[in-house]
Amino acid sequence: MVGLINAVPPENLEDFKNVFVFIELRNGELSRPGLEMIGAGLNIARKANEKLVGIIIGDNLEKLADEAGSYGCDIVLGAEGKDLKEFRTMPYSHIIGEFINEFKPNILLIPATRNGRDLASRVAVKSKAGVTADCTELDIDLNGRILLAKRPTYGESTLAEILCRRHRPQMATARPGIFKIPEKEEGRTFQKDIRKMQIPEEMMGKEIIEFIPKKSLDLTAAKIVVSGGLGLSKPQGFAVLESLANEIGGVVGASRPTVDLGWIERDHQVGQTGQSVRPDLYIAAGISGKIQHIMGMKLSKNIISINTDPNAEINQYSDYIINDDLYKAVPALTEEIRRRKEAKK
Ligand SMILES: Cc1cc2nc3c(=O)[nH]c(=O)nc-3n(C[C@H](O)[C@H](O)[C@H](O)COP(=O)(O)OP(=O)(O)OC[C@H]3O[C@@H](n4cnc5c(N)ncnc54)[C@H](O)[C@@H]3O)c2cc1C
Repeated sequence: MVGLINAVPPENLEDFKNVFVFIELRNGELSRPGLEMIGAGLNIARKANEKLVGIIIGDNLEKLADEAGSYGCDIVLGAEGKDLKEFRTMPYSHIIGEFINEFKPNILLIPATRNGRDLASRVAVKSKAGVTADCTELDIDLNGRILLAKRPTYGESTLAEILCRRHRPQMATARPGIFKIPEKEEGRTFQKDIRKMQIPEEMMGKEIIEFIPKKSLDLTAAKIVVSGGLGLSKPQGFAVLESLANEIGGVVGASRPTVDLGWIERDHQVGQTGQSVRPDLYIAAGISGKIQHIMGMKLSKNIISINTDPNAEINQYSDYIINDDLYKAVPALTEEIRRRKEAKK
């Protein structure tokens, strides 16, 4: 049974205060998208002259709470328990619902990761709040009350600003890889409130005996990404990119159609519906540069495109253009780098 939080009548809006962020954990650590939420929330909280409250849910949270505090949370609110070690939508949304009832946040931000999207929609339904999904810009109005949530729309061609004037909390999910992680400051003072939560049994669902995490690729942390698109023309083409990536300490990315065709796992997808990356070097081989792909990699420091079409859209974003067949250019690059590395030895 999921309890509904009462819809908030407009006259109570002023009771809702502070900026809350859900700091998602991954493998028992504060995740990168979670830390990015602290960055996004901090900016808003400071402008609104309000507190930034970080929510963490898991097991053994003391150290993680200290870390969240050192990244800029004024209050860290934790719910811990052995059963909460791994993400589960029902108990996690129940806990956040309880926190909303008790603390009345004005704003609640959740990373737009797979789990975050799942969680946000459920919390939004429970709180009758609505949620602006997949935001790439988050700000606050001049009065410090209304969240200005911006997200790309119409195939990423337009940025829509969405306001929630009459319900609280104002909820948004934020696209990973866009918001900056704040500087860590050891010894910052902050409040910590870690609770053992009683979760109604019916919400726990099935018992988890062992959790075996799928090895997932975090493209957002990579310094070099070598991505392939339909120009590869066959799944085996990714092996050619992998050789180059291995040679230069990078990871392999992909355009969506190659993922949809099953040439490579979804973890590798870059773009609007994949991961947003900002590496030092992004190599796009056989990728045309459609806006949905560009949205996920345009913040890269250096972009090299390899394409047979001299007028490919990707070239508008590239620092260097190799106008050639990728099956000639990529092995030649790999070989040259290997040769130079050998010569240096
Ligand atoms: C709602 C929505 C969300 C989407 N989300 C994403 C997303 O997250 N990520 C994403 O990538 N796409 C996404 N897309 C799809 C996107 O619109 C494009 O269809 C896709 O990015 C095109 O992939 P591509 O560049 O690999 O293929 P193509 O557009 O077909 O381009 C292939 C390129 O390879 C070049 N080429 C061909 N042969 C060679 C060769 N031998 N050597 C070198 N170059 C060669 C061609 O000149 C061409 O430029 C989304 C679409 C929608 C509608």
